[in-house]
Formats: sequence, C-alpha cells, structure tokens
Amino acid sequence: MVDIHIAYISVGSNMGDRLQNCLKGIASLTEPDKSRVLAQSRIYMTEPVDYEAQDWFINMIVKLETAHDPFQLLDQIETAQRVAGRMRDAIRYGPRILDLDIIFFDDRIIDSERLVVPHPRMHQRRFVLKPICDIDPTIIHPLLKKDMQSLLDRLEEDEQRVIEYQ
Ligand code: ATP
Ligand code: MG
Ligand code: MG
Repeated sequence: MVDIHIAYISVGSNMGDRLQNCLKGIASLTEPDKSRVLAQSRIYMTEPVDYEAQDWFINMIVKLETAHDPFQLLDQIETAQRVAGRMRDAIRYGPRILDLDIIFFDDRIIDSERLVVPHPRMHQRRFVLKPICDIDPTIIHPLLKKDMQSLLDRLEEDEQRVIEYQ
C-alpha cells in the first residue's frame, strides 16, 4: 500500500504572464497515479510585503494529494521553478517568475536545512491565509494549534492588500 499525503502549496508569481506561470507551476506538480490537485483556492492579486518596490503578485493555494514524501515534493518544486525560468533571486523576497512553497504536509513538523514545514512565515501572510481559507478555514496549524480563519483574523486589517483576481 502506498502512503498518500495531503500537501498545501502556495503558488505565486510577479513576473511575465503571472497567471500562466502559476497555472503551469501547478500542472508540473501533478503526475498520473502520483499527485493530483484536490482543490484550488480563488486567485488573488496581492501587494508585495517584504520588499515593496516590485509588481503585485498573483497568488493562490492548491491542495495536493501526493504519494511523494516532502523532500521529493521539494525536488519537484525546485525543478518546476527552474523550468519556469526562475534564476537565483537577486533580491531576497524580490521579483520571481514562480514561487512554490510547501505550507503544510499532512500534520508533519519538519525542521531541516532544506525544508521547514509548516512554512515558518505562513501565519503572517494574508496572501497565504486568505486563499487557504477558501479551501478549508478549519485546518489546524500543527504547531500554533490555531485554525486558518483565526490566524487570518489576527492580521492587521489595513496591511497586505489582497484583491480577488477577475
Ligand atoms: P519564503 O520562504 O519566505 O516565502 P522564498 O519563497 O522567496 O521565501 P525561496 O528562494 O523560494 O524562498 O526558497 C529558499 C529556500 O527555502 C529553498 O532553497 C528551500 O530549500 C527552502 N525551504 C525551506 N522550507 C521550505 C518550504 N516549506 N517550502 C519551500 N521551500 C522551502
Ligand atoms: Mg515564498
Ligand atoms: Mg519559495
């Protein structure tokens, strides 16, 4: 019996055809008999947060069912980002063609050099919390022991503009 896991992936782009970059990135994580998308959030345009002198992002979240382990999934993410054309970022948190981050992997807690799960900054980010609430606001953060809706409600209202993409 193969182990099946649930991973939540944050997908973002603020360079080139941002929506296409995101959709291709998601497609590249799917594989017959191995990984499929179970749910996708709405699509958002989001204000850059850590480094502000750049274009707005397109962001969304996908819920992935996968037979891969977290490190295999990270390998796939790195390949997908490279294929999309992402080079080494010139600026930390700066412009990027495609960013795929593992937000949750089942309720696993991983703290290794290559991979930290849950994503260590997810609870501060409206561009993660808002779309994840589209899929399931009741997911419990395995370390903070709080659900997604309450983490979202905790953010300052006037910070980090997030607008649904039409
Ligand atoms: P942030 O992680 O704050 O969103 P970022 O996405 O811009 O920043 P990247 O340049 O995409 O950061 O990735 C830097 C490193 O983060 C990668 O080399 C990867 O190994 C590591 N990493 C650690 N935890 C995760 C995770 N949960 N998902 C994706 N990458 C991770
Ligand atoms: Mg990121
Ligand atoms: Mg990343």
